[in-house]
Amino acid sequence: MDKVIYVDNNATTRTDPEVFEAMKPFLCEMYGNPSSIHTFGGQVASHIKKGRESLASLLGCEPTEIIYTSCGTESDNSAIMSALFLNPDRRKIVISKVEHPAVKNLGSELVRRGYRVEEIPVDGMGRIDMDKLKQEVNSETAVVSVMWANNETGNIYPVHEIAEIAHQHGALFHTDAVQAVGKITINLSKENIDMLSLSGHKLHAPKGVGALYVKRGVRFRPYIIGGHQERSRRGGTENVTGIVALGKAAELAQKNMKTENTKVKELRDRLERELTSRIPKTRINGDMQNRLPNTTNISFEFIEGEAILLLINQFGICASSGSACTTGSLEPSHVLRAMGVPYTAAHGSIRFSLSRFNTDEEIDYIIEKLPPVIETLRKISPYWKE
Ligand SMILES: *Cc1c(COP(=O)(O)O)cnc(C)c1O
Repeated sequence: MDKVIYVDNNATTRTDPEVFEAMKPFLCEMYGNPSSIHTFGGQVASHIKKGRESLASLLGCEPTEIIYTSCGTESDNSAIMSALFLNPDRRKIVISKVEHPAVKNLGSELVRRGYRVEEIPVDGMGRIDMDKLKQEVNSETAVVSVMWANNETGNIYPVHEIAEIAHQHGALFHTDAVQAVGKITINLSKENIDMLSLSGHKLHAPKGVGALYVKRGVRFRPYIIGGHQERSRRGGTENVTGIVALGKAAELAQKNMKTENTKVKELRDRLERELTSRIPKTRINGDMQNRLPNTTNISFEFIEGEAILLLINQFGICASSGSACTTGSLEPSHVLRAMGVPYTAAHGSIRFSLSRFNTDEEIDYIIEKLPPVIETLRKISPYWKE
């Protein structure tokens, strides 16, 4: 494939070349086990320490509050299962209707295991129903888990307020911050969040490393039990390259967040503005006032998102659609359904998610290529009327 215009950064990101350079020595040269007694292994431990400090600095927390995991999904599962195990008398968890499958599908599994799982609805812009949340959190609730930012719409959720409600009822608060970390300012020392999940590959580190923040003083029960790594909170030999990479990625995110987000936001806003003005019958899904700077979710009504993706794929444009073609039936995403987006719009929704690597030229290219694609598809759509 010659040309690739990658605007699917909420799915995964390019490993930053600086990150790659930082992790390289730990594969073929400094490959020792950080737990070993010999110096060869031991020297690796200092690099893990440095990585942990960089990540802690990005999050505004203590290095000891970080537990490395294999991915965002493991972090989410570990947090929720720990809360349930430590509060056996509380048999209920409260989540939102727009959680990532890492939380949503764990919720479904917990229902099968006899727990009560309440999914709090959202409004047409994807904003959580705070009144309903207040009603549902009670003395039965072990943990409230609401994402910091949504992967499909970019919506940012009021985690501080939600944590307060959880705490009023003695419940723990966990947030899936996989899409928030590296994109918006986070200072956990000033937050009331008990546990927070993140994932390396969403912020320009490679796939296969994640982390779970557990606030000092909050009890935690390990999910993966084995050796004494991570202060006995997560067994398994450390993913040294991943940890070093995530440290470097955190450092870069912290250093460049302000300027990058201004640039990325400008590109996103221009893309959104041009597409919605050049193409009739579009709508933006999400909370325009309270979104990540890199994400836009646009519905092109009366056509199929999958068809749009296939056609723009021929131009090398990589994006995502809000309908997942599962088991042959085209069901719009649970997020758009929860928002009550009409079917004709939900089916034709495309998510563009940008990063620091996108350029003005790439945005120009998308603005040029997309309108004719939409026009072609609408011509053959049985629902489309001029
Ligand atoms: C990608 C993502 C996850 C899962 O992270 P993995 O590292 O791929 O397991 C969880 N939550 C959100 C919001 C995500 O975007």
